Amino acid sequence: MPASIKGTLLLDENHPSLKKAANIINRGGLVAFPTETVYGLGAAATDPEAVNRIYEAKGRPADNPLIVHVSDPAQLKTVARDLPEKAFKLTERFWPGPLSLVLPRAEGLPALVSAGLPSVAVRMPDHRTALELIRLSGVPIAAPSANRSGKPSPTTYRHVLEDLTGRIEAVIKSAPCSVGVESTVLDLTGETPLILRPGGVSREELEETLGCRVAVAGLKSFPGKPLSPGMKYRHYSPRAALILVAGHPEKRFALVKALAYRYRSLGLKVGYLNPSIRDDLKQKVDPERLAATLYELMRRMDQQEIDIILAEEIEITGIGLAVMNRLKKAATRTLRVGSGKLQRKS
Ligand code: AMP
Ligand code: MG
Repeated sequence: MPASIKGTLLLDENHPSLKKAANIINRGGLVAFPTETVYGLGAAATDPEAVNRIYEAKGRPADNPLIVHVSDPAQLKTVARDLPEKAFKLTERFWPGPLSLVLPRAEGLPALVSAGLPSVAVRMPDHRTALELIRLSGVPIAAPSANRSGKPSPTTYRHVLEDLTGRIEAVIKSAPCSVGVESTVLDLTGETPLILRPGGVSREELEETLGCRVAVAGLKSFPGKPLSPGMKYRHYSPRAALILVAGHPEKRFALVKALAYRYRSLGLKVGYLNPSIRDDLKQKVDPERLAATLYELMRRMDQQEIDIILAEEIEITGIGLAVMNRLKKAATRTLRVGSGKLQRKS
């Protein structure tokens, strides 16, 4: 008998266990499973009641759409329609991988999957267990991140248990997620491809593959008002106040030290997010490493009841764009060295 806590089964990654997980999915249940980005909370995308349970278990607002996971590029046609040439170029290069494509939703797919939008986000994860689970289920699997809404995304099965024990049927135990931040969400329904959420595949890689400019929602270079329902929510946030220090690297470092001193003298517990400041070394941050450990660090600091998390900005190239996006969303304040101005995040 597999272990179970408060009704939530802990399953291994072997074939019989994954068959059990697939049966749960087919009966309308919820299974948290590993992917290369973060752990997903899966239900049969074809079953509106099961999809509704995802929103309930997470406490997720009903207007925040999910991502549909497929096990094969050919399965894309069952969930999306009117596929543009760009979609084929991208799936060929980046699937399996951390790229979700927003496309017109297929008629047969429940509207609830994409919170009633005419579009749907689809991806093929680069993880053996995830792919086998989808294959064994025989249906595409709708899955947002397997955390309670508002908490940092889960990158280990323990994070999933912290948030969802007793609320879902099963969790598949696997190694920590290798990428550590969510997939890039790329909207292909407009004239110009638009990154709604930066993630594991970089803007540079997308532009190189498509041979055209790719816009990023929220950056000044994008003129219009983008619509991504998920973007208005304050995700990715630790309980502690996170202060993001931006500006000239050396001045930044001095300010972080001064802030730590000031807060500690007020009796507050201070934690450093970037390894460079934690180790008191002015080494270059490794953005991949920071991405892979970001949510684990946030959760651990919450457990340690840290009051103030100090984080330094990093360059927004490659995965750095995704890391900075998450840091900005998590930040209660951004402090820019030079101006000395304290900007409260709205
Ligand atoms: P999660 O898997 O929890 O990271 O959430 C999925 C995210 O993908 C949502 O918060 C949205 O920002 C984005 N998304 C999913 N489907 C769509 C869609 N049809 N249109 C725009 N954004 C989407
Ligand atoms: Mg999420």
